[in-house]
Amino acid sequence: MDNLENAIIGLLSELVRINSVNMTLSHGPGENELSTLIRHRLDALKLRSQIQTIAPDRNNLIAVVSGTNSAKSLLLNGHLDTVGVAGMDDPFRLRQEGDRLYGRGAYDMKGSLAVMLLLAEYFTRHPPPLDILLTFVADEEDKSLGMDYLVEKWLCDISPPPLGAIFLEPTEENIGVCHKGFTWYEMEIIGRASHGSRPEEGIDAILPLRSALDELNKVQAELLNRTPDPLLGHATLHSSIIAGGTELSVIAGHSYLQWERRTLPGESRPDLDLELQRTVCAVENHPGKHEVKGRKLFQRPSYRVPDDAEILSRLQKASPQSSLAGLSFWTDAALAGKAGIPSVLFGPIGHGAHAVDEWVSLNSLLKVYETLKQLILDF
Ligand SMILES: [Zn+2]
Repeated sequence: MDNLENAIIGLLSELVRINSVNMTLSHGPGENELSTLIRHRLDALKLRSQIQTIAPDRNNLIAVVSGTNSAKSLLLNGHLDTVGVAGMDDPFRLRQEGDRLYGRGAYDMKGSLAVMLLLAEYFTRHPPPLDILLTFVADEEDKSLGMDYLVEKWLCDISPPPLGAIFLEPTEENIGVCHKGFTWYEMEIIGRASHGSRPEEGIDAILPLRSALDELNKVQAELLNRTPDPLLGHATLHSSIIAGGTELSVIAGHSYLQWERRTLPGESRPDLDLELQRTVCAVENHPGKHEVKGRKLFQRPSYRVPDDAEILSRLQKASPQSSLAGLSFWTDAALAGKAGIPSVLFGPIGHGAHAVDEWVSLNSLLKVYETLKQLILDF
C-alpha cells in the first residue's frame, strides 16, 4: 500500500507540474505537453498509444490494454486540461498536507489521470479479462472538442462498442448516473439611434428588453413549479449577458440579451425552443417599431444512464457504499451516452475544482484505484 501511495504522489506531482491550462477558455498552453508525458509513460509500459490531433496544437491520447477476451471492452476517460490559475501561489507544484494533495488539477482531474496510469501499469502486468480503452481527451473545460472528436472519429467505429464507460471526474466517490444539459440563447433588438433630445426620430431598443426579462421570469417560475428530478432538482434558467446603447445622450439603436437554460433529462427540444419563441413574441408585442431576432447559440444534451446498464450494476457492486448522484454541471459523459455507450461518473473526494484552493484526497485516490481494479477483475 505504501508503494502505491508513493506511486500516486510521484505520478500526480509530474502531472501537476505540467501546465495544461485550457487554451481557448483561459489562454493556457493547452494539453500537448501533458499528452506527451502520458504517452512516454505508456511507452515505458510497452503499450501502444495513439495521438489524435483534434485541432492545431491540441491532442487526445488513446491506448488499449488488451484483455484475455477482446470481444468485450470497457472505456475509461479523463480530461487533460484544467481551468486557469489566477490567484494561485504555486499552482504547478504538488503540496501535501496530511491526506490532502494541493495543486491545480489535482482534483479536476489529474488525480484520476494518475489512477488511470496506475491501472494501465497493473493490467499490462496482469492481463485483464476484457480490453481496457484508456482515453485522455482535450478541451473538456471549454467546448469538449476532444470528446466530440473521440466519439466521431474513433469510438463510433469500435465493434462491438464498449459495454460501458467510466468518466473519472471527481464525484466524491459517488456514482454519477445523470447530469444536466444546457442551451444558450441570444436575442437582438434592433431600433434606430437618435439624439436624446429627439426621441420621435429614434426607436428605443432597450425598453423592449423589459418584456423579454418578464417572459423569462415567467418561464423560470413555471420551471420551479414542476416536479423536481429526484437527483437533479429543477431545470433552471438565468440571463447571463445584457448589453445595448452607445452614449448617455443617444436613444439606443441596438440591444442584446443572452441567457442560459439548464436542462433535465427528458426535456424535449421543441419545448425548449418554444421558450425562445415565447420570449421573442413578448418583445414583438412590446409597444414600438423595433425589430427582434432570437436564436439558439449552442446546446449540450443532458444525460442519464439506463437503470439496467451493466456498467452501473458492476460499479455498485464494486463500491457498495457509494450513493447514486446527479451532477448539476455538464460532462463529457453525455457525448459517449448519446453515441449509445452507457456511461457513469466515478472519481475521488476533494475540493476546489476551478477554485484557488484545489486539493484531492490521497486516500480517496487509492480507493478509486482499488475499486476500479476490482471492477475490472470481476469481469
Ligand atoms: Zn473535470
